[in-house]
Amino acid sequence: MRAKARLYPKEAARLLRERPGVREAVTGATLHFERNRLRAYGEIDAEAWRDRAKAVKDHLLSHLDHYLELAERRLRENGVKVHWAETPEEAHRVLREVVARHGVRRAVKAKSMLTEELGINPLLESLGVEVLETDLGEYLIQLLGEPPSHIVGPAIHLSLAEIQRLFHARFGTPLDAPPEALAQVARKVLREAFLTAELGISGANFLVAETGTLALMENEGNIRLSTSLPRVHVALVGLEKLLPRFQDLALFLPLTARAATGQRLATFVSLIQGPAAPGEEGPEEVHVVLVDNGRTALLQDPEAWEVLRCLRCGACLNACPVYRQTGGHPYGYVYSGPIGAVLDPGLLGLEEAYPLPYASTLCGACQEACPVRIPIPKLLLTWRQRAVAEGLSPAWEKGAMAAFAKVMASPALYRLFSRGLRGLPLPQGLLPLLRAWSEGRGPLTPSPRPFHQIWPELKEERHGG
Ligand code: SF4
Repeated sequence: MRAKARLYPKEAARLLRERPGVREAVTGATLHFERNRLRAYGEIDAEAWRDRAKAVKDHLLSHLDHYLELAERRLRENGVKVHWAETPEEAHRVLREVVARHGVRRAVKAKSMLTEELGINPLLESLGVEVLETDLGEYLIQLLGEPPSHIVGPAIHLSLAEIQRLFHARFGTPLDAPPEALAQVARKVLREAFLTAELGISGANFLVAETGTLALMENEGNIRLSTSLPRVHVALVGLEKLLPRFQDLALFLPLTARAATGQRLATFVSLIQGPAAPGEEGPEEVHVVLVDNGRTALLQDPEAWEVLRCLRCGACLNACPVYRQTGGHPYGYVYSGPIGAVLDPGLLGLEEAYPLPYASTLCGACQEACPVRIPIPKLLLTWRQRAVAEGLSPAWEKGAMAAFAKVMASPALYRLFSRGLRGLPLPQGLLPLLRAWSEGRGPLTPSPRPFHQIWPELKEERHGG
């Protein structure tokens, strides 16, 4: 998928100008998720759970070669066909072969960010396959031709009125049809697709190396239908999605659900062990494609690898005051919000994802929410330092920082400038460089006396006291 991450500042401003309703919808939905997460963390010893989850993921990532080989062995023993894809093209080749061998005309798809990353829908459509997204939110944005706005809630940027207009135009439902009626219409379309599709495509929340088990979490039942009714099931799995042992699921399934939506457990958890045995119902063929696409290179980066612990729960998006303003579209790539700001530079290269590490106030709310303790603010600073070192920051910023360093390193210059600045009226928007910052804020009123004059008096007072 071609990323448009470089356009982030412009796209964010455009969205806020042209679609003000998005801010309201995203803020409402993310605050709701965030409140639920806080309540759900409060019911458990969340600190201990998060420590344990971090330790398991760190162990996995530091022995990834061992666990990948073990997972491959177990999957094959279970009758699963295993493929390795270093690039999106290699994953495409697997799907091309499956489509050709089984004469696939229709595919049903479960929600999966990795399939977005790999551009699976455009590939299948280019092969003449009709693809239907079966998660309700994904189905809505597929009808609109939009990418997901959130990892867990792909359509959280849409208002009910927008969905009612979409269904009215597409299916002729009344403009004031209630959500239940709209869901009934979607269900009818999707039920027919489940029964007629030859191919089901999914991602995986986890792949257990010890047993070769694919674990999938959901709330709608569509993943279970997508992976069990079609003759063939293809699961695309990022290398970092492994878990060492089956018993690790006892921690990761409830922790992910609590972080994502505040649920104690997802409504449906499917554990897939392979194709159906004779006499059983289920797919005749199960394929697992283990996808690298930049992950092993990222694992070798001593300052950035921790991002690979990510469970794609979306909790950091819900906690982020910057993401809440626009939702995910302006980020220009599959992964948005805080996780996107630290993962996208690793997957796409910093040059392509350059502005994203700056899409943060560094408030640390993302790190507080993260169930696997990814130090997102630290990673943001790492990518920012690299951006400066690689000369990606704009010329005016470089000049301003060089001048600032000069002034701060010289007491005489510092006094001169601070005296000059205090005499300067700074109403909103006076300086073009400050306009973006000062919009929406009160006027700047510098203190009548500079800090270096006040400081000796404060010290004196303290000593005297
Ligand atoms: S970085 Fe942490 S909070 Fe954000 S999606 Fe990944 S696991 Fe969830």
